[in-house]
Amino acid sequence: MTAVHHHFINGASFEGSSSHFSDITDPARGAVIGQVNFADNQTVEAAVSAADAAFASWAATPPLKRARVLFRFKDLLEANADKLAAAVTREHGKVLADAHGSVARAVELCEFACGAPKLLAGDFSENVAGDIDCHTVRQALGVCVGVSPFNFPVMIPVWLSAFSIACGNTFVLKPSEKDPAAPLLLAELWTQAGLPPGVFNVVNGDKDAVQTLITHPSVKAVSAVASTPVAQSIYQTAIANGKRTHTFGGAKNHALVCPDADIEDVANTIMAAAYGSAGERCMALSVAVVVGDESADKLVQTIQTNATQLTIGPGDKGNPDMGPLISREHHQRVTDYIQSGVEQGASLLLDGRDFECESSPEGFFLGPTLFDNVTPGMQIYDEEIFGPVLSVVRVDSYQTGLDLINQNRYGNGTAIFTNDGLLARDFASKVQVGMVGVNVPIPVPIAYHSFGGWKDSFFGDVHLHGEQSIQFYTKLKTISTRWPTGKTRTSLMMPSHHD
Ligand code: NAD
Repeated sequence: MTAVHHHFINGASFEGSSSHFSDITDPARGAVIGQVNFADNQTVEAAVSAADAAFASWAATPPLKRARVLFRFKDLLEANADKLAAAVTREHGKVLADAHGSVARAVELCEFACGAPKLLAGDFSENVAGDIDCHTVRQALGVCVGVSPFNFPVMIPVWLSAFSIACGNTFVLKPSEKDPAAPLLLAELWTQAGLPPGVFNVVNGDKDAVQTLITHPSVKAVSAVASTPVAQSIYQTAIANGKRTHTFGGAKNHALVCPDADIEDVANTIMAAAYGSAGERCMALSVAVVVGDESADKLVQTIQTNATQLTIGPGDKGNPDMGPLISREHHQRVTDYIQSGVEQGASLLLDGRDFECESSPEGFFLGPTLFDNVTPGMQIYDEEIFGPVLSVVRVDSYQTGLDLINQNRYGNGTAIFTNDGLLARDFASKVQVGMVGVNVPIPVPIAYHSFGGWKDSFFGDVHLHGEQSIQFYTKLKTISTRWPTGKTRTSLMMPSHHD
């Protein structure tokens, strides 16, 4: 029997009237395992109305009481980690241990969001002018919308919603249509945690649901995580409709490998960052820029040897290193990229197309793929592949490598591998990328530091995580107060703080 996923509105499962459904596929077996309903306008309207109706009361709930719900939600995430990770693995395909890691990241974000009351505190200035005090408060925005991608169906919905809710907003999530089970489970956990009906809602669907949500007059803010063209388009539409907006796009993350690094150790680190989650991470390292041929030779040899030891198979069986890609179409897309790399003159050292999964031949598996002698202008360098494909670019100096990274259109994550502190410091200062690792391959920041890229990896002004989330999900109000003393003088002049 296959599962049928609907929506979650006003504290309960919601079927709505749409007869439009889409298949959900188990990527490890290539079999249809469920269906998801695509919301029509009435369903989207019901979700936004529920969120709008819940707003006044939730915004007026003391921050500490809101934080208590978050504490309980965090506990429930931990208690249900097995169930959440299993749902992620079943529909996304990533291996179970990796799915658990993504749930743990969601928990970390909640741990920090539980401290929102302190971060929501405003400022107070006494006696800014005769008998006048001035204070600034942070207030919630209203109904916020989050659009999430397929690759982190627990972590990203929690990143987008937990702070919004902690700040007193209400939320409508539009998760990826490819893996809706885990986001619906999150909605149940929010309810169990004591969140009032209407504060967190889930609307399933595709771009049509997104379009209705981000142009809806009652929606005040939009956060989205998507491929760059989608992130850019959502940003432009939402901004044009007066929403506070930030959207997080695609990536092409470079590692800069300096000759003084322990190349074998770095090779293993880069291999894990390139092939983990089958390369379907926005922070995956997909390009290794290596300074000097000697280092490059050693790096590619080590990866070539060690990548063949990686185990690949269904993520819920036998603890493999890598699972499948999300869909048959995406598998074909990545395969086409590999072919384009061959045709455009890159050296194919490991060909993931050769891999066959004996235990699950219908799954969308691809083995680790390694290209050497990749150059800008090749499609495999210029475009985001989002698969287990690592490109090695050889450069003759640190400066050439840094310039290459800075010329790339994306700026999500990057890492330098070196033992030279001064060089690392120079890199961290000059690289035009939002998240930087120094000997850290996947520098996804802890929840209290800002998360977000630069250039075509981000559209907006304020990142996610940390105090940035508080800034994004609240608006400031400044109140000047004077209590009558009976000494008021009538003046038609511009009020100032001078006597
Ligand atoms: P996607 O762009 O296909 O879809 C993302 C979301 O947008 C989904 O909910 C989808 O239904 C919706 N959508 C799709 N087309 C739309 C359109 N035309 N208008 C409005 N909404 C639309 O992305 P995906 O394949 O689900 O996820 C992978 C992409 O997300 C990669 O490019 C990856 O780099 C990126 N990503 C970025 C980050 C980050 O933090 N920068 C994190 C994770 C994933």
